[in-house]
Amino acid sequence: MRFFALFTLGFFLLFPSGSFFAQTEISIVHPKFTLHGAPEDSALLYPRLTAGVDAVEQFFGQPFSRKFDVYVFPHRASLDKQWQQDWGDPTFQSACWMVASGVAHRLDILSPRVWATEACEHKAADTLALRRLLQHELVHVYHGQHNPKPDFNGMDEMGWWIEGLAVYASEQLDSARLAGLRELIDKNAVPQTLQKFWSGKHKYGLSGSVAAWLDQTYGRSVVVQLLSCTGTDQAMSVLKTDEATVLDRWQKFWSAHH
Ligand SMILES: [Zn+2]
Repeated sequence: MRFFALFTLGFFLLFPSGSFFAQTEISIVHPKFTLHGAPEDSALLYPRLTAGVDAVEQFFGQPFSRKFDVYVFPHRASLDKQWQQDWGDPTFQSACWMVASGVAHRLDILSPRVWATEACEHKAADTLALRRLLQHELVHVYHGQHNPKPDFNGMDEMGWWIEGLAVYASEQLDSARLAGLRELIDKNAVPQTLQKFWSGKHKYGLSGSVAAWLDQTYGRSVVVQLLSCTGTDQAMSVLKTDEATVLDRWQKFWSAHH
């Protein structure tokens, strides 16, 4: 009993304020990140995060520029509280498909142990999807560390690039999403501006396919250069083109890749 009390106190000292964690939470230190969560969650996530960090560094050809924290939230209510604070909106309530987020200094995730009851569209037992989801968020962390706006504040219009890159670099641009994209192109139902790509049912296919096209057309070094852009206009000047040309060439590329 005494040990338990001391352990609780020790933990409280580690997280003296603003902590939503219960007394059974632990912290595991990796050279690139510190993982905070229940032992069961840490056992599941630590090896996958480690593999994800390696994969992201390999994709970009450079290491993460600084350490970050990963927080595993035991319930959606505690995750919402964190997001309310981060996004400055005390009324924010997340949608059931939202289970994680990533910015330069932190990655937040809802414990996969409660996805069955507190989330939709995600299955903890689908280990491939879990690996890709973690890698997606790690791309956001890496991106934030290489952008003048580390939390992407004010960059909503660039969702096509922020999300598209994370989708593409985490292999979430799968055959089902590409099939959905081809259907849109065939029906001539593609949005007319990049700003509208990260919205609606086909947002993963639309945004992810732009990142894939950029990588295959301009090469990885240009993808790396685009990390520092804070707006679509700036991205167009890096590409030395305009949005209409990009949309035209992107569509021709995917039409030819049927
Ligand atoms: Zn994302």
